[in-house]
Amino acid sequence: MTRPVPRAGVMQIDAYTPGKSAAAKVLNGARVYKLSANETPLGPSPRAVEALRELAPHIADYPEGSSRLLREAIGARYGLDPARIVAGAGSDQILELLALAYVGPGDEGVYSQYGFLEYRIVILAAGGTPKIAPETNYTANVDALLEQVNDNTKIIFLANPNNPTGTYLPTKEIARLANTLPPHVLLVLDAAYAEYVRAEDYEAGAALVAARENVVMTRTFSKIYGLAGLRLGWGYGPRHVIETLDRIRSPFNVSSAASVAGVAALEDRAHIDAAVAHNAKWLPWLSQSIAALGLEVLPSVGNFLAIRFPDQDGSRAADADKYLTERGLIPRAIGAYGMPQFLRLTVGPREANERVVDALKDFMRGPR
Ligand SMILES: *Cc1c(COP(=O)(O)O)cnc(C)c1O
Repeated sequence: MTRPVPRAGVMQIDAYTPGKSAAAKVLNGARVYKLSANETPLGPSPRAVEALRELAPHIADYPEGSSRLLREAIGARYGLDPARIVAGAGSDQILELLALAYVGPGDEGVYSQYGFLEYRIVILAAGGTPKIAPETNYTANVDALLEQVNDNTKIIFLANPNNPTGTYLPTKEIARLANTLPPHVLLVLDAAYAEYVRAEDYEAGAALVAARENVVMTRTFSKIYGLAGLRLGWGYGPRHVIETLDRIRSPFNVSSAASVAGVAALEDRAHIDAAVAHNAKWLPWLSQSIAALGLEVLPSVGNFLAIRFPDQDGSRAADADKYLTERGLIPRAIGAYGMPQFLRLTVGPREANERVVDALKDFMRGPR
């Protein structure tokens, strides 16, 4: 060997490609909208911004290492025991810590066919082997997930609702999965979009966590709370899992800025209600308007839509990606998920949504 070589598995990872950002804020006199990363169109809570301002003179101090105030605020807001919460630099960090703690060489980690790609990355990075369960109609399938489970399985990652498809599994199916799993397998329910979901048969997973020794729920401040740039997320789990993660997380894994902004954002219920109401109005509007153009739209309960462009090789979706981007509306190509015929589109502010539908109408009318 002529130079250092990473552990087995690491070189199998394709680095995560984030949604494109805007090169410019304005294009041909029109505002550019980034609709590629499921960020909130409402921005952060003004209270979070104010909390950051108040913190600014104190950033020479280390944060409090256990994120106690934040965990207490989360506990109060969601009715959970703060001692069973761990905070992280984004929920991505919680996913990473879970894989690092529970998966090693020879172990397997399961996720579903169109599941969030971060799961593959953290399983491989931990030295484990990813196992993929086929989906039905772009929706996770509990029986298929269970079929992948064997003595070597250590963890199952399931985003509910899932990104990039937007589909979800009802409480009953999640309970069936948890109740059928052998006790040595940790079920991770990634509920990054839970606040947006209005379906009555949906739960984020807290009740299952409370009742079982092998279920963890992860949540984020990056989506409806509008704090993606600060990197803040959390996990709720059995005491033994939280204690395990506390052993391996770095001592100051959550910045003081993220913590104070998180607490303030949790307190601003009106801001969250406004974000839910905005999404409840525009998600169905976008979905119906785009379907009316003859495009297939997957049924989404998140703040984004997966839109299918009709051809086999994905060239039509690539054309649409270019067409929208040239008009200052930036979607997300999801070929990396094995969905090259689709684009994912975040619900934006009113103007962005209306321009997307107009642009897609023109695109569909245009020459093939
Ligand atoms: C956006 C997203 C996350 C959140 O990631 P953060 O690290 O908290 O920003 C987690 N899971 C899924 C499925 C997501 O789409």
